Amino acid sequence: MKQATSPVESSTGASPYVSVVIPVYNEEENLPELARRLFATLDTQPYSYEIIFVDDGSADRSWEIICRLHQEHPEKVRGLQFIRNFGQHPAIFAGFQAVHGQVIVTLDADLQNPPEEIPKLVAKIEEGYDTVGGWREIRQDSFFRRLPSAFINWLMSKVTGVYLRDYGCMLRAYRRSVIDSINQCHESTSFIPALANSFARRITEVPVQHAERTRGQSKYSLVKLIRLNFDFMTGFSHLPIHFVGVTGLLIALAGLGFGVFLMLRRLWVGPEVEGVFTLFAILFVFAGLQMFGLALIGEYVGRIYREVRHRPRFVVREELGEVERG
Ligand code: UDP
Ligand code: MG
Repeated sequence: MKQATSPVESSTGASPYVSVVIPVYNEEENLPELARRLFATLDTQPYSYEIIFVDDGSADRSWEIICRLHQEHPEKVRGLQFIRNFGQHPAIFAGFQAVHGQVIVTLDADLQNPPEEIPKLVAKIEEGYDTVGGWREIRQDSFFRRLPSAFINWLMSKVTGVYLRDYGCMLRAYRRSVIDSINQCHESTSFIPALANSFARRITEVPVQHAERTRGQSKYSLVKLIRLNFDFMTGFSHLPIHFVGVTGLLIALAGLGFGVFLMLRRLWVGPEVEGVFTLFAILFVFAGLQMFGLALIGEYVGRIYREVRHRPRFVVREELGEVERG
């Protein structure tokens, strides 16, 4: 029988208790200090740990530095290298598949998320939460980086029904069972905080510090951000296609209403000039119906998409007695 929400089981044998997963894309300037601060923080904790760096196809010396760190600390540092740049979330997915720990922490490599906050997150998991999100109380990013984030945060809270102050912060901790569920998802694009919450029962947020990026620059261009938001929107809801459908239906109805109005007007006032407006009314009805039809197809495609993703349909927390499952 599996007990998922009790304080985390202590690690057995050689496997570490905490796994830290870090996606790295051209962060050679940040890695040495990051490693130093990680060791300084985690070495003072009573638990064992491992750090998994996932090099997301860096073109600089990042992988060299990771290799050196692994040589110096083979017990504590592991690494994965992608052949090319696949993106932050795929990198974290790869890390998740490699973790051995009971508590899994994700962290950015650029030192914007202070490693010193990790013990705080781990403590929350031990309190019994399944996922713990860092919430950047004072966010040190430019206005143009914050604006799309604010929008996506609002949208995610609405779509997932889980209100969080900060979906975008990647300083987060997860219980092992949540990661096991995520590892059963075979979709190629996804937004990890939202996916994790769909497998968690108790979710919380803790305020964390946020630093300005002092070395290197943000790896998220506007295009990349938009793509991420689309991944999220199409991965977690049919909202856009519903919107198209409802708009189409409204236009068709408006066209119909207009037609009826013109007919009544013809009876009372007489025909309008050369029937132009009647044509408009008919056009609106057809244009609206076409849009609605498009959305209907979209709905079917969306359902096929949901099927091919093969996300687990449910996750059992506990079983009493022998439960037959087909
Ligand atoms: N990152 C990555 N692959 C990418 C983009 C980013 O692995 O294609 C990593 C990056 O090295 C960093 C983290 O994801 O560790 C967050 O990226 P960044 O700081 O550029 O994003 P921002 O802070 O602007 O959201
Ligand atoms: Mg950053």
